[in-house]
Amino acid sequence: MENYDNIMHLGNPTNTIAVLNRYGFNFQKKFGQNFLIDENVVNKIVREAGVTKNDFVLEIGPGIGTMTQILCENAREVVAVEIDNKLIPILTKDTLRYYDNVSVINEDILKLDINKIAKEHNDGKPIKVVANLPYYITTPIIMGLFESNVPLDSVTIMVQKEVADRMQVGPGTKDYGALSLAVQYYAKPEIVLNVPASCFMPKPNVDSAVIKLNRYQAPPVDVKNEHLMFNIIKASFLQRRKTMLNSVGNTLNNISKEDLKEALRTLNLSETIRGEALTLEQFAALTNLLYK
Ligand code: SAM
Repeated sequence: MENYDNIMHLGNPTNTIAVLNRYGFNFQKKFGQNFLIDENVVNKIVREAGVTKNDFVLEIGPGIGTMTQILCENAREVVAVEIDNKLIPILTKDTLRYYDNVSVINEDILKLDINKIAKEHNDGKPIKVVANLPYYITTPIIMGLFESNVPLDSVTIMVQKEVADRMQVGPGTKDYGALSLAVQYYAKPEIVLNVPASCFMPKPNVDSAVIKLNRYQAPPVDVKNEHLMFNIIKASFLQRRKTMLNSVGNTLNNISKEDLKEALRTLNLSETIRGEALTLEQFAALTNLLYK
């Protein structure tokens, strides 16, 4: 169906409360349930995700379907994965019942084979992921999507404001760390919207931001062994205040301090440099020198 004029959109407190009351729904803290109640924010997220009628969209954590409705109206097809079985009848029998281009899967996204979904619904071509997630699973979900080589066009995701900052920053700032480097190896991050806590029900304790991660077709740096590079990165940031020589040299058994000193010298980097000062390019170059 293409005429959505009579559909009750949920992006406001009145309609959201009406749905919750109809089903006697209680928010589950353990699932990080904070539902969007601002229609402008919902529309803006879908717009920034660049969703068109050619697109297949995977939505993670639809809640009562507030953003799912708008996704259905803009995408060719939507699959929404929701862990809470109490929300399934609300979605399928009520808030999404007028849309014929959506399927709801009651599952934990971390247990789902997303490659299979991309194959079945999008011929294995790059998909768009849109999500407003509980903050505690943000990192595993993003890294899972990247590392399992799901064909991805972009991931547009609501995260805690400071996590968005962490994903976007470069060396020399306090937020720079292993997450920044991991995200920036796979994608170009861009904060597209700041969302105050008042846009959610119930109101969370922190402000949020929507970040769009545009997946690179090829990584921006050449590295001989990704696994080794990420081990070096993780070891470098285990103790931020330590020099790389100590943090990496003492943590990774397969890298001797002598080899590390030599590699740093080759790259014209000081022996006392800390991981937080290195760019992704420098981590890649260091890895290539240390890889045997
Ligand atoms: N997208 C809705 C919105 O914006 O109003 C709901 C957002 S709420 C912050 C997060 C949603 O993700 C909840 O509906 C929650 O039940 C669901 N969720 C939490 N953990 C999940 C998981 N591991 N897999 C799938 N859904 C999950």
